[in-house]
Amino acid sequence: MLVTAGPSNLAPYIGRFAPSPTGPLHFGSLVTAVASYLDAKSANGQWFVRMEDLDPPREVVGAKKLIVDQLKTHGLVSDQPILYQSARLSFYEDRLQSLEAAAKIYRCSCARSTYDNIYPGRCRAAEIPQTAPHAIRFRTSQPVIKHLDLLQGFKAWRYGQDYGDFVVKRKDGLHAYQLAVVADDIDQNITRIVRGADLFDSTPAQTELYAAFATRYPETLHIPLVLGQDGEKLSKQSRAPTLSGQSPQTNLNEALKFLNQSPVQSPDPAEILRQATLNWQPSRISPSWGRIWPSKDLMLD
Ligand SMILES: [Zn+2]
Repeated sequence: MLVTAGPSNLAPYIGRFAPSPTGPLHFGSLVTAVASYLDAKSANGQWFVRMEDLDPPREVVGAKKLIVDQLKTHGLVSDQPILYQSARLSFYEDRLQSLEAAAKIYRCSCARSTYDNIYPGRCRAAEIPQTAPHAIRFRTSQPVIKHLDLLQGFKAWRYGQDYGDFVVKRKDGLHAYQLAVVADDIDQNITRIVRGADLFDSTPAQTELYAAFATRYPETLHIPLVLGQDGEKLSKQSRAPTLSGQSPQTNLNEALKFLNQSPVQSPDPAEILRQATLNWQPSRISPSWGRIWPSKDLMLD
């Protein structure tokens, strides 16, 4: 059994916001950006923007520049040059090789249609030739993974039931999300991850990867998702309205309201963020999976 995270360590706070360029920012992604920014700044920490552009088929042309511009309009500027995952493929390949050397990964030729929700580890002992089409999976080792999230509280996941051997390199040759995000979080010394509650269930995979890279899993704060009136997550795919660049003050205050923080009256986004940083109280955020906005909370199971 592995218990991850715990009280904060002594390292200076480094946080990040990591959008994927599948479309422009919408209100849901702004909420995540604002929460991660305020949490880092209120701890005198640094805040980095990382573009998760590892999936060219899903990328929307022009979205990267648009996202960076939208963040800037809202006063949200990365403390380091923005890291683009697409420029780091050799780094991910190197990380993959270190997992290979530790016998932590294996080739899998199974089609997605051959198993239900959780991959049952069928190819663990199979000898799949390099030349055959295959994905690469991580050999998970913990029967139970437990984690205490700063907002959502305690959760335990069971191997075979809640998680299984996950893909680190896809059959189409693209590095998988879990590998890249953990490699980058470790490389950038991220000390606390603030992100949407839909990613809470990435904890087992990411905890396993952190352990494989002999690094402590960071603290996490999973904030509720912004849900539309239909109860579905606002997403670029569901054509959530793009944020208006005309009223960043209104957008920022709406995000603060969603997070149960005090609004700030100022025409200047930078000033709103400065005061919101001073007022920041993450304990006031509703510990739910999602909030229909404006309206009620939906709880995490
Ligand atoms: Zn398989």
